[in-house]
Amino acid sequence: MKRILVLEDESSIRSFVVINLRRAGFEPVEAATGAEALERLREFPDVRVALLDVMLPDMDGFEVCRRIRENDKTIGIIMLSAKSQEMDKITGLTSGADDYVTKPFSTAELTARIDALLRRTAATEAENGSSAELRQGPFVLNTHSRVLTRGGERIKLTQIEYALMQMFMSNPGKALSRGDILAQIWGRNSGAEEKVVDVNIRRLRIKIEEDPTLPLYISTVWGFGYQWNA
Ligand code: CA
Repeated sequence: MKRILVLEDESSIRSFVVINLRRAGFEPVEAATGAEALERLREFPDVRVALLDVMLPDMDGFEVCRRIRENDKTIGIIMLSAKSQEMDKITGLTSGADDYVTKPFSTAELTARIDALLRRTAATEAENGSSAELRQGPFVLNTHSRVLTRGGERIKLTQIEYALMQMFMSNPGKALSRGDILAQIWGRNSGAEEKVVDVNIRRLRIKIEEDPTLPLYISTVWGFGYQWNA
């Protein structure tokens, strides 16, 4: 299932895009504001491509794009804009977007761009030698679909929890400091406090551990941070 986020404040355009994406075999998720789009991405960590309108009521699409990229380097981002000026293109691409589609666009054009982007990200991941799956004990984390399973059963994760699992499963047995986890997942200049790491680990343990009070997989390294036990 290829989940696509559609951020567009004009409901007629949004419905048009959503209907046509569904017809083309995608699984669209809708948002009408920047804040809603960020919320949807937390809800659906397996979104592969985000389509972002530029002119929005709360924040512009470039800002949304920057915020998505702070947490997620792998998601594909296509900006949708009514303006075709070269300047917009440059701003869009430097804020972390992968591609750019100018309104009005046809469904064929849009789906072709999405397919091209999905092929490109898959090719990059293959080139980097990064396997699509991280396996540790009963857990399998698929980095293409961003889905975590435990003994074959799916565990729903937020974006942050997904990033934590990816970090842990890529570093089995390594003691990771709160500071390092914070820097890698929230960003060095995010202003987030180390306490947020503990809060998210607690939530993640509830999802993945049989007994979150006696964690087997994510153990605490007292006075330092956390460690993944394979
Ligand atoms: Ca708009």
